[in-house]
This record gives sequence, structure tokens and C-alpha cells, in this order.
Amino acid sequence: MGIISFATTAALVVALAGPAVPAAAQAPHILAIGPESRRLLAAGIEHSPSLRQLVATIEASDLTVYIVTSPEPGRWRGYTRLVSATGQPRSVMITLSQALAPEERTAILGHELQHVSEIAAAPDVTDQPAMRALFARIGRSSTTDNYETRAAQDVERRVRQELRIH
Ligand SMILES: [Zn+2]
Repeated sequence: MGIISFATTAALVVALAGPAVPAAAQAPHILAIGPESRRLLAAGIEHSPSLRQLVATIEASDLTVYIVTSPEPGRWRGYTRLVSATGQPRSVMITLSQALAPEERTAILGHELQHVSEIAAAPDVTDQPAMRALFARIGRSSTTDNYETRAAQDVERRVRQELRIH
């Protein structure tokens, strides 16, 4: 099927007191599906300036972003894929592993939102070949159709640090 994903595999756990869940964030381009995804997005917007900045960037773009969580087993943490067909308005889906601690999921959400902002900044990415070309240019590939960027790793680290403050 040629789905391009950005899997992240390092296992890190951050122990935090759970922050209260704020009111639903206003982010019409970012649609968190289900209560856990909504909680993650709201907590990230409230506690992480880096994640908040990414949300603002994405809100100013043409992209629609869906966020879901998945119980699929394995060493994966999260991935982002293009879900729109050629010629349709661009949309992407972020899938986050339910196996992660909630605070760690927020850091991975930041990581994946960075990938979304990379797609947002490349308006020519309207199909999977173009997406593959973008990430071959700005990232590096570990396995077939599995790319990583330094910027996403940096955002993940920053979000983790910002959450630790609380
Ligand atoms: Zn990544």
C-alpha cells in the first residue's frame, strides 16, 4: 500500500504528577478522535510552549490533522501518514501507541506534530511519492518508508523537558 510512516522506537518513560485536563482547545485544523487523544492534545497545548507553537503553525496551514491512539502491539511509539487522496484537500493522521505512559504520549504527539508542520511547509506534498521525496530530502530513512528528522527528535526532547517543569 505504500504508506509512509515515521515510526519512533526509543522507549522512554517520564514520571509526572498528572495535570488537570483543561477545557477543550480551539484547534479546528487538528481533530483529536476519542477522549484520550483529546486529553493529550489539551494537556500538550496547556503545558508545552513548543507543542502550542506547532499547533499555531498547523492551524495557519491548509492541513487537516487527525489524532488517534492505537493498542497495536510492538516497539513503535507513533507515526504520521498522509490520508488524503490525490486532488483532495490535504489531510494527515497521527497514530500514537496506547502502550506509552500518557506524558510520554504527549512528547510523541509533539514529535509527530513537527512532522505535520514539515508537511505543512511543503505544499507540493499532495501524494505519497511527493511525501517520500520530501522526507528523503529533509530526513533520513531507517527502513523502507520509515523516515526521521532531527527537528522532530528535538521537539520531542523539548516537550519532555517542558512537561517535567510541571
Ligand atoms: Zn519522527
